[in-house]
Amino acid sequence: MARKILTEHINVPGIETFDVYRKQGGYTAVEKAIKTMTPEEVVEEAKKSGVRGRGGAGFPMGMKWGFLAKPEGVPRYLVCNADESEPGTFKDHHLMKCIPHLLIEGMIISSFALGANKSFIYVRGELMYVIRILEKAIAEAKAQGFLGKNILGSGYDLELVVQPGGGAYICGEETALLESLEGKRGNPRNKPPFPAVKGLYQSPTVVNNVESIANMSWIINNGGDAYAAIGIGRSTGTKLISASGHIQKPGVYEIELGVSVDEFLNSDEYCGGIRKGHYLKALVAGGSSVPILPANLITKTAAGEDRLMTYESLSDGGFATGTMLGSGGFIVFDETACIVRNTWNFSRFYHHESCGQCSPCREGTGWMEKVLHRIEHGHGSMHDIDLLVDISKKIEGNTICPLGDAAAWPVASAIRHFRDEFVWHITHPQEATAPGAVYMGEMVLG
Ligand code: SF4
Repeated sequence: MARKILTEHINVPGIETFDVYRKQGGYTAVEKAIKTMTPEEVVEEAKKSGVRGRGGAGFPMGMKWGFLAKPEGVPRYLVCNADESEPGTFKDHHLMKCIPHLLIEGMIISSFALGANKSFIYVRGELMYVIRILEKAIAEAKAQGFLGKNILGSGYDLELVVQPGGGAYICGEETALLESLEGKRGNPRNKPPFPAVKGLYQSPTVVNNVESIANMSWIINNGGDAYAAIGIGRSTGTKLISASGHIQKPGVYEIELGVSVDEFLNSDEYCGGIRKGHYLKALVAGGSSVPILPANLITKTAAGEDRLMTYESLSDGGFATGTMLGSGGFIVFDETACIVRNTWNFSRFYHHESCGQCSPCREGTGWMEKVLHRIEHGHGSMHDIDLLVDISKKIEGNTICPLGDAAAWPVASAIRHFRDEFVWHITHPQEATAPGAVYMGEMVLG
């Protein structure tokens, strides 16, 4: 069995309560950090661990903490991004629902490290029951002296606030999240200034994902070096993967980074293989925004090496033959899935969620949705394929926030790897629009 850092105790009955969590060793990391370490030493352990942001960007968390400005007399904030809304990603939801104190403990340690006296957990607004679970856990921790004034007699104060999100995918972009937290419409900000310099209420702010912060208890208890010893290369530690689609065992799995994609997909410990009687067609490895891969590039790289569940191996070959680990939203498609329909569906989502501030994203996502709709519904022309590629290129890298790229990559990669399926929809409109029709021809690489 693979090592578990975040989910070791997740199935213990009553683990959502303070008493049971404490009996499993909970809050010992807070005691260690606050009573025996300086904030700088906690930051140093985070840096040593090499833990990378688990929300999708994969930026080293300790390094991000190191960028935090520390002007005299100005408050600093830690904001936990729990606005998980990426299609195919549901691991933070699972963690907060099942073991809320792991996040609370990580928030206390991280806030202490950053010198924050007021911190926020910004939770996707639709998850009201999770918000109630977190509020209950915070009240329990406060009653036991782990939150509030003078924590454990140390003189350190921390108030932890749970904020329901604004109900839009874009509020998961860190600067849009800060706008929303300030009570405004969740529009991404132009950068610079970055949140580490001017974030919440124009004060230095760190925004970290739920899973990233939840790692801090283990890192403090066991040391950053021990964490860095798990995984491969710059992909250290474990990662929660939300597995869905045409597999035997959908769910949330904690993997050691470095397990092969083949093992994750086919072993009984994880996904259990493709559903019976079907075969693998495509994979979205890191949530809807990352490039889709065809079957021949999923378990092996273009160079014929085993593809691993790491940031580096999944992106091997760049976008020509690789993809991204992203948020770990692992969506599996068998041969019954229609790539054109799926791409149209993703495009509809990004068009709907665009905040509309920049023209390439506001207009381009709408155009892509319309063009994909007509191809899917039997009214496309061959020119439409090049038009989609052209639009995606004009969006990519030309927008204020990453939603533009997130909308462009699924379209560009679907055409790159499944062009013949798009062509079939255009040249065989009657067959393609028949109920349940799916293209079964050869998949094309490159
Ligand atoms: Fe808004 Fe899209 Fe521009 Fe992001 S890329 S700021 S979502 S219009």
